[in-house]
Amino acid sequence: MSLPDQGVRAMVMVLFDLGETLESDGVLRAGALEVLQELADLRRDGRPAAVLGLLSDTRTPAGPDDLAAIVAEYRALLDELGIRRFFQPFSRRVTLSAQVGVGKPAAAAFRAAVARADPTLGFADVVFVTENPDHVRAARVLGMTAVHVRPAGSPGAGGAELPAVLPVVRDLLAAASDDVPVLGGDRALASVGAPAGERLFLVVQNGRLFQVDHPEVPVLLDTGRHLVVDLEPEVAQELEDSGGACWTLRPLPVGPVVTTPAASGRGPETEAVRRCVDQLSRDRFAADLATLAGHATRHSASADFDAAATWAAAQLAEAGFAVTTQPVPRVGGRCRNVIADRPGTGPAPRDVVLVTAHLDSVNLRGPEAPAPGADDNASGSAGVLAIARALDGAETELDLRLVLFGGEEQGLFGSSHHVAGLTGAERARIRAVVNMDMIAGLNTAVRGVLLEGAAVSRTVLDALAEAAATYTGLAVSIGLSPANSDHVPFIDVGVPAVLTIEGADGTNRRVHTERDTVAELDLDLAMEILRMNVAFVAGALVPASVGAGSRELVTPR
Ligand SMILES: [Zn+2]
Repeated sequence: MSLPDQGVRAMVMVLFDLGETLESDGVLRAGALEVLQELADLRRDGRPAAVLGLLSDTRTPAGPDDLAAIVAEYRALLDELGIRRFFQPFSRRVTLSAQVGVGKPAAAAFRAAVARADPTLGFADVVFVTENPDHVRAARVLGMTAVHVRPAGSPGAGGAELPAVLPVVRDLLAAASDDVPVLGGDRALASVGAPAGERLFLVVQNGRLFQVDHPEVPVLLDTGRHLVVDLEPEVAQELEDSGGACWTLRPLPVGPVVTTPAASGRGPETEAVRRCVDQLSRDRFAADLATLAGHATRHSASADFDAAATWAAAQLAEAGFAVTTQPVPRVGGRCRNVIADRPGTGPAPRDVVLVTAHLDSVNLRGPEAPAPGADDNASGSAGVLAIARALDGAETELDLRLVLFGGEEQGLFGSSHHVAGLTGAERARIRAVVNMDMIAGLNTAVRGVLLEGAAVSRTVLDALAEAAATYTGLAVSIGLSPANSDHVPFIDVGVPAVLTIEGADGTNRRVHTERDTVAELDLDLAMEILRMNVAFVAGALVPASVGAGSRELVTPR
């Protein structure tokens, strides 16, 4: 996944348009070099405070070779202008419409540019600089600060001079809070005698799998799913790529929120959404869950996975969806993704909402060991079927796509393959991805859910939290360190995806063992999480009914 530079988190991003903003006819605008240099020199606690990026509209590529040519031309232009050094690494700081599939002012183009630069940044942390007034407006709708500059070479035109960017960035930096809680905040770290920053690492784990693998590593803070651990940097480097789909280790970012309780209040209830929520059937969900967990295993390469995929595809077809399958390479057997589509009734081309879960299960002892995977993840898979049935008969404007992935436990193979197969335009039309992975394990006194996304997912996180407040009694936490499930490949390409997972899943010790059975589950928790997800999806599919907290979801492209 894409991560911030090791140990460095910029507080703000300054995102520039190139043509007519910084250059005109291949010549750098007067004063541009000085402004870029001043921004690059800004420091906070001795570290670079601003990350600089470029977002440019280019021609549509004729094919993969042409895309490479467009990127090479752009890189050469930056070299000619003498400004490429401000936008390094090029692959993270420069975003072209040819790469994203859409250009400005589409939200997806802005989202991709911010996510590539630093997935912990939100739109509120971005200053966008352009001479195009339409793009200024679009950026502000998304919550960015936008600076409208006078077009290069048009002395009479409206807009500010380029140096006007500097005070705007300084003001935003001054307003950025130093005191953002990380696993309970700096005070919590100090209270456990945390060492200097370069020895602190963040672990995101499924179950207690990091602690099972590495009991020798000292844990300083433990919220279950998230740990802060103390490691020699060289040791950490060796561990970094060995967690597979069980856990990830990365330098502890400076500042970003790891988990926070959601502050969303209730939204307005709508009749259409309420009807879908009430159409959820607990009995049917229980029966589907029992069928899936009734297989000895659903290991991706097993005959039982094949049987479960065939059964689930038939269920989705019966619910009125057009079902296709997509082979998942590198896993073995007949591992595949099951994809179910239902078109909306709005005018084409339509955006789409995705609901996903992984169908496969695993036992850490090996492919032959029993792996009922009732919670992980028959619960999410049966949840996808439940959502398909709950939306039956609902009039929806947008398209709905449900995906059951294979190969998740081997390393997110099914979802990575699915995302890699989408064109830029197909990615750009995805409004939201709601992924379910473990929704029925009750690990806490109060029924709760963790919504896990990244800055790109912020509006989906907020809309889900609002749906939870309106239609459920769930306690909601929000996490911004996505890891270990099928939402990650989407987030990595700038698509707003969110994992919905039982609260405190890190205390669930049955994960990936033969003890992950239906008898251990709390179906009331699963039904609450399903109510939230159905309410969100039903609302998102009929954009006019989405709550006020979801402006970005209804931004026209
Ligand atoms: Zn799982």
